[in-house]
Amino acid sequence: MISVFGSANMDLVAYVDKAPALGETVTGRAFRTIPGGKGANQAIAAARAGAEVIFVGAVGDDAFGPAMRATLEEAGVDVSHLRAIPGPSGIAHIVVDDRGGNSIIVVPGANGTIEGPTEAEAAAIGRTDAVLLQLELPMEAVVAAAVSAGGAEVVLTPAPARPLPAELLDAVDLIVPNEHEAAAITGRRDPAEALAALLERVPEAVITLGAEGALYGARGAEPVRVPAFAVEAVDTTAAGDTFVGALAVARGEGRPPAEALRFASAAAALSVQREGASTSMPARESIDAFLA
Ligand code: ATP
Repeated sequence: MISVFGSANMDLVAYVDKAPALGETVTGRAFRTIPGGKGANQAIAAARAGAEVIFVGAVGDDAFGPAMRATLEEAGVDVSHLRAIPGPSGIAHIVVDDRGGNSIIVVPGANGTIEGPTEAEAAAIGRTDAVLLQLELPMEAVVAAAVSAGGAEVVLTPAPARPLPAELLDAVDLIVPNEHEAAAITGRRDPAEALAALLERVPEAVITLGAEGALYGARGAEPVRVPAFAVEAVDTTAAGDTFVGALAVARGEGRPPAEALRFASAAAALSVQREGASTSMPARESIDAFLA
């Protein structure tokens, strides 16, 4: 069983030919509301990949709160620890132009009210095999969840990149940055060097390298390079979240590292062939069929 302690955002996406400058109004081509947030994305990815998943987080009492709760439930995620608090839900206001470039405003809303897991939430997290953390909640909340995780393995996606307190790194079992986050954390651009630097702080690390695959390392072992599957990518949104969710599922099933990484790469490769975030995450049968 896997727990996720993290963010739920409604993505409000406007598609335009050219993004408006300050003071300018433009007419958009299309608009979509897409449930997202790194926490909710990882929870949905793990549930679709075949695990029992508990999501611990918060939504507001606006129209987006129930919509996000329903999306998680439809994916089979246990939302009994999803708080509904007065005020707005978290949103990401996204403008996508005709060249695929985007600008994003994230307003944390309910996510920003979380100071840490309650006693009951920490107990629920402690009963799972692994807790997945990201950095879209207040840092104090992420640290509190990591240090109170009990028997759960702590898996950190350090995104969006920001300085990591020693107390957090001390509690992390596995860190999964992309190459940019790895460089920001370690000051090393070269993935192999960044991996070595990460392993000085945490026992295991995976650096994801987009279409180049991923690099895995554990202290005292030779690094493993995992190629990405060659597929036609149409939208790489949430590839990283899909990868982490599926990786946690495979590790929870006791698969050895190389096999778990291959499973995660397959899930991510399937997700980049579809549009959207939660909408693009593959079901277990699809991952197994892809690997067969
Ligand atoms: P995002 O922020 O979009 O969620 P990310 O930057 O966190 O993504 P990436 O390193 O881009 O994560 O991708 C994660 C994994 O997804 C890669 O390790 C790889 O397995 C898979 N992946 C990403 N892009 C592609 C692609 N074009 N083709 C195949 N697999 C891909």
